[in-house]
Amino acid sequence: MRTATRTHGFTESVIRGMTRLANEHGAINLAQGFPNFSAPDALKDAAARAIRDDINQYAITWGAKRLRDALARKYAQWYGMTVDPEAEVTVTCGATEAMASALLAVVDPGDEVIVFEPFYENYGPDTILCGARPVYVPIAAGAPLDLDRLAAAFSKRTRAIIVCTPNNPTGRVLSGRELEGVAELCRRYDAYAVTDEIYEHIYYEGKHIPIATLDGMRDHTITISGASKTFSVTGWRVGTIIAPPEVTDAIRKVHDFLTVGAPAPLQEAIAVGLETLGPEYYRGLAVDYRARRDLLHGALLAAGFRCEPPEGAYYILADFSALSDLPDDAFARWLTCEAGVAPVPGSSFFSRPELGRQLVRFAFCKTEEQLREAGERLQAVKGGR
Ligand code: GLN
Repeated sequence: MRTATRTHGFTESVIRGMTRLANEHGAINLAQGFPNFSAPDALKDAAARAIRDDINQYAITWGAKRLRDALARKYAQWYGMTVDPEAEVTVTCGATEAMASALLAVVDPGDEVIVFEPFYENYGPDTILCGARPVYVPIAAGAPLDLDRLAAAFSKRTRAIIVCTPNNPTGRVLSGRELEGVAELCRRYDAYAVTDEIYEHIYYEGKHIPIATLDGMRDHTITISGASKTFSVTGWRVGTIIAPPEVTDAIRKVHDFLTVGAPAPLQEAIAVGLETLGPEYYRGLAVDYRARRDLLHGALLAAGFRCEPPEGAYYILADFSALSDLPDDAFARWLTCEAGVAPVPGSSFFSRPELGRQLVRFAFCKTEEQLREAGERLQAVKGGR
C-alpha cells in the first residue's frame, strides 16, 4: 500500500511539545519562548481599531503598503540601509514562514545550507523541505566563532548560511569581526546569508549588526525579522523579509502560494508601532530583559546549573550535569512534572542528540514575579535531590 503521508523524517517540534507538557502539569513554561506579559497598548489599540475600521480583507500579498513603508524607514533609521518598499520587502506569517519562503526561493535540491549548531529547531526541517542538506558548524555560548572551521564547511555546493544573531539558543551576539568572516565566505562562494534577526532589539553586550550592512553584502543577504519579539506579539504571526529585488520577486511568489498574506489588521497595528514607539521603547525593552536575564541566571547558578549569562536574545542554555545523571529529555520531563518548571531538552538543538544530553534551555521572557517563582521551585530541586 502506498504511504499516505510524507513526514520528511521530521519528529514533532520539541519546543511546542514542551508547552503542551507544561500546560498538562501546571508547570511554569520556560520552554517555548513567548512573553507572559502584555504587548504595548499602542499596538493593541491599533489592532482593535483596524478591525473596527474594516481592515479585514487580504492585504497586498507581499505586505500592506503602510507596513512596508514603515519598515523601509526603520531600516534606514536604525541601520542606514536604503530599502525600496515596493521591490525589496515581503511581509510573512511570522519569521517562521519568512525563513521557509526565503530558503524555498533560493535553495535548490542537492544544495547545502550551513546551520550553526546548536540551532533553533526549524532550520534543519526548512532546509530539508528544499531538498537540500544541512551542514552543521558549532557556535558556543561565551566563545568566539571558529572561522577556520566555518571556512572548511563552505564549498561550491553551499547555497546559503543561516545566521541567527542575537542567537537562539546560545545567546551569542556576533561581533563585527565574526560577521565579516561569515560575509567574506558568502562573497567568495557566492552564497546567501539568510539571517534570523528576530531578537535584534534584545541584547545586553555589543551591538546588533545586520550582516546586510557589511561591504558588498546587500546582494548576498536575505534579512529576516518580525514583530513577535520586539513587540511581544508572538501570536500575531507577522514576519518581515528584506532582500534584493530579484530575490524578493522569487520570495514573494513562494510566499503568495504558501499563505497569500499575513493578517491585514495586525500589519496595520505593527505599522503604528513602528511609527509611534520611539527609542525609549526599545531601550526599555532591553533594560527590562537584562533584569530578567540576571534574575534567571542567578537563580540557575544558585540551583546548581552551570551557564553563561547570554549576550542577547532571551534564553539560557544550562548544563545540569551537577544536578542529575538523567539524559536531557528525561531531566526536562522530570523538571516539568516534579519541580513545576518546564525547559526545552538540549538535544533538540543538535543534529547529534548526544551533544545536548547534559543541557536544557530556559526562556526568560516572563515577568520577574514568575521568574522568581521558577527560581524558588528550582532551588527545591537541589534540596530534594
Ligand atoms: N523562537 C521561540 C523558541 O525558540 C518560539 C518557538 C516557536 O514555537 N515558534 O522557543
